[in-house]
Amino acid sequence: MATVTPELHKNLINGKWVEAKNGQTMQSVNPATGDVLGIVPKSGREDVATAVEAAKQAHAKWRKFPAPRRAEILYRAAEMLVQHKEDLARLMTQEMGKVLAETRGDVQEAIDMTYFIAGEGRRLHGYTTPSEMPNKAAYCIRVPLGVVGVITPWNFPMAIPSWKIIPALVCGNTVVFKPATHTPLVALRFAHILHEAGLPPGVLNVVTGDGKDVGDALVEHPDVAIISFTGSTETGLAIAEKCARAGKRVALEMGGKNAAIVMDDADLDLATNALIWSAFGTSGQRCTACSRIITQRDVKSDLTERLVERAKALRLGNGLDPNTDVGPVVSDAQLHRIHDYVQIGQREGARVLTGGARASDGALSRGWFYSPTIFDQVNPAMRIAREEIFGPVTDVIATKDLNEAVAILNSVEYGLSASIFTRDINRAMHAIDDIFTGIVYVNHGTIGAEVHLPFGGTKNTGNGHREGGLQVLDIFSEWKAVYIDYSGRLQRAQIDKD
Ligand code: ADP
Repeated sequence: MATVTPELHKNLINGKWVEAKNGQTMQSVNPATGDVLGIVPKSGREDVATAVEAAKQAHAKWRKFPAPRRAEILYRAAEMLVQHKEDLARLMTQEMGKVLAETRGDVQEAIDMTYFIAGEGRRLHGYTTPSEMPNKAAYCIRVPLGVVGVITPWNFPMAIPSWKIIPALVCGNTVVFKPATHTPLVALRFAHILHEAGLPPGVLNVVTGDGKDVGDALVEHPDVAIISFTGSTETGLAIAEKCARAGKRVALEMGGKNAAIVMDDADLDLATNALIWSAFGTSGQRCTACSRIITQRDVKSDLTERLVERAKALRLGNGLDPNTDVGPVVSDAQLHRIHDYVQIGQREGARVLTGGARASDGALSRGWFYSPTIFDQVNPAMRIAREEIFGPVTDVIATKDLNEAVAILNSVEYGLSASIFTRDINRAMHAIDDIFTGIVYVNHGTIGAEVHLPFGGTKNTGNGHREGGLQVLDIFSEWKAVYIDYSGRLQRAQIDKD
């Protein structure tokens, strides 16, 4: 077979495609096959500095460009994303492994987000309100922050960047985007489309490279007004510390240890379908993946049998193959991390019902595949029940009633997504009241967020911000209160009351 030399890609800085100043490069590798898909710049601090400077210069004009006109560019980008949906999805499957149905969903989410937020170009509502004085107007408006630093993970290579970049742009900010080390090609294609749609030079810049070099430089740059980060809790908290010292804004989306409660009156067929999808979709590498199934004792063995049968039947393989249910995990390091957790679980006394090992039969040996794994006899205090594994591993935990189930669900340090399966409306409503997470589903798994609702979590999942919904605008804008006194005399608020 002829070997194809992988294409060399470049950073997007100030509307131009440029190499890293240090001339270094890194590879993007297909986790299903080990093939090199492309070469991208392994940039350094100096590239970040140039990109931030370009973004800073561009901001002066972009913030004055009317928001409806910014939105026109975004609508055009959305249309181009629709046209390129299939090739973007195929590239994404090759670059990070998840199956085509899911990568099409990832691109669709970016399309949905872009159309939804482009609509804000003609809204971006502030409000007017009466002043306490006569002959005085009062209102408030949103204003952009300046240069936004976007740092993203590899599990949703287009959806997550779109949640950040599109709202940042519509609000009038400019962006320097550092994509995940494992998914630079999708990021550069996404940027290419936004660039072709007509973004002026410097409004969106992309700098590929390592977290330590490029990410750190972006976080530490004094002209970056805010960092919007999605990734691990460890990295997110380290970024937050640096931002706090510099007085810089930061919006964090971090880990999850999501649980589904299955009550004894649940539709077990539905619960099984939803939980297999929630636990093993994207090979469990979602911040909303279901990694704890808290089930009432009466239905536990019935549910567990169904889950194990279904997990065993999942076909692992290359995500481009339409017969594949579960693709590889993203890297060798991730594979080892997952297996280490499985061994920790076994040492803690939990029992592996299915999976528990690397899958390496035939063609699978070329990539990083891990068998869908279900643990039984899990105690909520075990590490596998408390820590995020980010792989195809889920725990079954027995419970006596709803109160105990909710207490177990809430007992972890994270609070992203949760679900309950029950046919009893009272139980569902109590669960909604008492579960402390950012997202709650009833009779649905823990995954499946829609772009026009707030996305984010409580406790160590985040720092109080929400992406998605209109709430995302609060991350990327400041409020400006405006008072216009047309009385022609000094009127003192709170003092001149008569
Ligand atoms: P993931 O497992 O999703 O890669 P990480 O938190 O390690 O989670 O990475 C998320 C993003 O943060 C990636 O783009 C990564 O390169 C970047 N990153 C990693 N370390 C740092 C750092 N010290 N400063 C800024 N960004 C970083």
